[in-house]
Amino acid sequence: MDHNCWDAGVQREAHSLKVEQILFQGKSDYQNVMVFQSATYGKVLVLDGVIQLTERDECAYQEMITHLPLCSIPNPKKVLVIGGGDGGVLREVARYSSVEKIDICEIDKMVIDVSKQFFPEVAIGYEDPRVTLHVGDGVAFLKAVPAGTYDAVIVDSSDPIGPAKELFEKPFFQTVANALRPGGVVCTQAESIWLHMHIIEDIVANCREIFKGSVNYAWTTVPTYPSGVIGFMLCSTEGPAVDFKHPVNSIDESKRSLRFYNSEIHTAAFCLPSFAKKVIDAKTK
Ligand code: SAM
Repeated sequence: MDHNCWDAGVQREAHSLKVEQILFQGKSDYQNVMVFQSATYGKVLVLDGVIQLTERDECAYQEMITHLPLCSIPNPKKVLVIGGGDGGVLREVARYSSVEKIDICEIDKMVIDVSKQFFPEVAIGYEDPRVTLHVGDGVAFLKAVPAGTYDAVIVDSSDPIGPAKELFEKPFFQTVANALRPGGVVCTQAESIWLHMHIIEDIVANCREIFKGSVNYAWTTVPTYPSGVIGFMLCSTEGPAVDFKHPVNSIDESKRSLRFYNSEIHTAAFCLPSFAKKVIDAKTK
């Protein structure tokens, strides 16, 4: 079975995983939800035909989208996750002893339930007592957040079609900036430099207008995502300066070892290939 078919602009491409068994198929109010056992990547979560996570490579995504922002500011205390219904980002945020409050706003309860049933090692993030779950639209949730509430916002969204479309638009970034304290940080899923430079260009231009601290693009490898890479937009609001490229926190590995993230890969994640650097630098200066 082919998953992750995408239009690379010139030709259709597809990445295939061998399906051993379909474990769950359902239709929520928002999307088609599927879990299958693959031959080589363990169990796989698929939303509307697009792979969201596999047991084998989820660490690369969850650890990077969480630790790139949270290692860049001292003592994060209040963290908001938008999307991220599988719970993997919560699991990583929970490593920080400085964190007092973790809010999550996921639109689709079916994703949460399916993750708890089939991906307990990911959904374990929900067990942390600092977590408060809000089932609803992240766009509406952020509009109601009082100014300056959070030290960090992590937007772990699906692609900019369907329920996640607005999470990539300028008004949404404005509400994120408003919800952050001065010198607070946001990290948002920002697609692939191989496939979506036009989308990335727009995101960078919008963020440059809204976030008056710093605006950076980082990326990592996730073999089962389209083109095998995924990027992150990392921005800070005006206030104490944030140098995203040089982490200031170490991470608690006492309960669970990191499988992907380390401080060297943190710094390296901001090095861009020339074709992407040219476009992104032009928008960030
Ligand atoms: N880490 C994986 C990735 O990037 O492919 C998983 C992403 S996570 C599963 C994306 C989640 O965002 C989905 O569970 C989806 O339901 C949720 N989502 C999409 N639009 C949303 C919205 N407007 N508000 C809150 N959550 C949303």
